[in-house]
Amino acid sequence: MIIVLKHGVTEEQTNSLKEWLSGKGLDICPIYGAEKTVLGLVGDTSHLSADEIGMHEAVEKVLKVMEPYKKANRKFHPENTVIKVKNLEIGGKELAIIAGPCSVESEEQIIQIALQVKKAGANMLRGGAFKPRTSPYSFQGLRAEGLILLKRAGEAAGLPIVSEITNPNYIELFDQYVDVIQVGARNMQNFELLKELGRIKKPVLLKRGFANTLEELLMACEYIMSEGNPNVILCERGIRTHETYTRNTLDLSAVPALKRISHLPVLVDPSHGTGISWMVEPLSKAAIAVGADGLIIEVHNNPSKALSDGPQSITPSQFSYIMPKLKEYAALEGRSISIPHTVAYAGTPGSFANEAAEKTYPDSAHTGFERFEDVFWAVLNKKAEIGIVPYENTLAGKVAEVEELLNNKNIEIIDRIKIKIRQMLVAPSGTELSSIRKIYSHPKAIEQCSKFLSTMPDCRIIPYSTTSAAAMTVAALNDKCSAAIASETAARLYKLSTLKEDIQDDENNYTEFVVFRAK
Ligand code: PEP
Ligand code: MN
Repeated sequence: MIIVLKHGVTEEQTNSLKEWLSGKGLDICPIYGAEKTVLGLVGDTSHLSADEIGMHEAVEKVLKVMEPYKKANRKFHPENTVIKVKNLEIGGKELAIIAGPCSVESEEQIIQIALQVKKAGANMLRGGAFKPRTSPYSFQGLRAEGLILLKRAGEAAGLPIVSEITNPNYIELFDQYVDVIQVGARNMQNFELLKELGRIKKPVLLKRGFANTLEELLMACEYIMSEGNPNVILCERGIRTHETYTRNTLDLSAVPALKRISHLPVLVDPSHGTGISWMVEPLSKAAIAVGADGLIIEVHNNPSKALSDGPQSITPSQFSYIMPKLKEYAALEGRSISIPHTVAYAGTPGSFANEAAEKTYPDSAHTGFERFEDVFWAVLNKKAEIGIVPYENTLAGKVAEVEELLNNKNIEIIDRIKIKIRQMLVAPSGTELSSIRKIYSHPKAIEQCSKFLSTMPDCRIIPYSTTSAAAMTVAALNDKCSAAIASETAARLYKLSTLKEDIQDDENNYTEFVVFRAK
């Protein structure tokens, strides 16, 4: 039942009506609008007649709510509900993009995926720790340890986390570790679990059971909300039909239907919805087009080796490829997806330009290009928003090629950053300084270390495209007579040992990098 109050009723009149209704054992949800105040009544109203309520001086009209779901009903709450999860607002303009593996498998796996999906624009990390598998012989999840690893990965990437609960006994654990608790399709009608989740305030991601109607989904939701937790996010994840080509039939009509009859945010899971990785992209686009408030996508670094749901998992690079396309679909619907800047830098991971990129744009995706001209090409062709290249070194002077490339009229320099350059002689572990016969590096790095190199007269100096590429080559050669002049970061990255630190001629060795974009 909904009671619409008269315009201009006093607080006293409202309170007296509320007291009377409470006395009848009813739960009252007031909604204060700009024009009108409405009282939603939850509970058994069969003993009350609309006429009886209408006699009260504060009441304008009484409406019966025929649907069995009350708190999730849009009639009770005409505005969209927005659920705050850390900095993310689920149900707001920005779409929630939840990505991650079906199951947390190891610390390395989950941290790697977390960092990669974050860079591609995900704003929440998923990962199952307690897996409700069809077969007891399948991987059951890392359980509590999985939650610990997921939390660690979420912190490393700066992403809130969501994981599935299967049993009310674990509520305390989940409340402590995760930001959103998922109730999976198999537990949608685990009413004891739902009631317990209603007694905490943590947001709940409630997935539709594969044989359940929308009304049953909303009634499951009612179990959580009626206990006092209003933070429920709904999720369409496919239902069982006679079709067998896909794992489930993704019922996209559920989205506009749920948005119409309920005020709660609605997400779509195209991974479980289809069971096929190549269908994730088209159905993600479709989900955005029908008004979903976000997506939950399974992403695995090695889908063919995944311990669960490999066939429906996409790789981080596929994820980063589809995200810019989804962003365009979101814009058509008046929604947004924010993808961090892509920064193109000179060299491979571990180059000084990579270090400059990490320092200046820590939250961006970074892509290395071996040749300076390719960095410019990437920016001019919109493959990256920003380019970072070395411009001038205190010991070795300007980089002539870069100076020339910067003459392009379509380029604008937006920043300059200086980095202290510490050159190291690096080689595979176990290599002796005396056995080195070949030293690989970029000509500018070789120039910066001329004094040290004069102490190595028996060595052949081999110019290379970048210091990081030189380090990578030396690691691959692993012949105990090759070394590279490169950064400490490159040494770490390619698992090389440092034979000699700070071999640059002068301690005060700085390189200025230019940061540019297309005009
Ligand atoms: C999952 O998210 O990994 C999962 C098991 O989902 P669902 O409950 O939708 O099958
Ligand atoms: Mn899964």
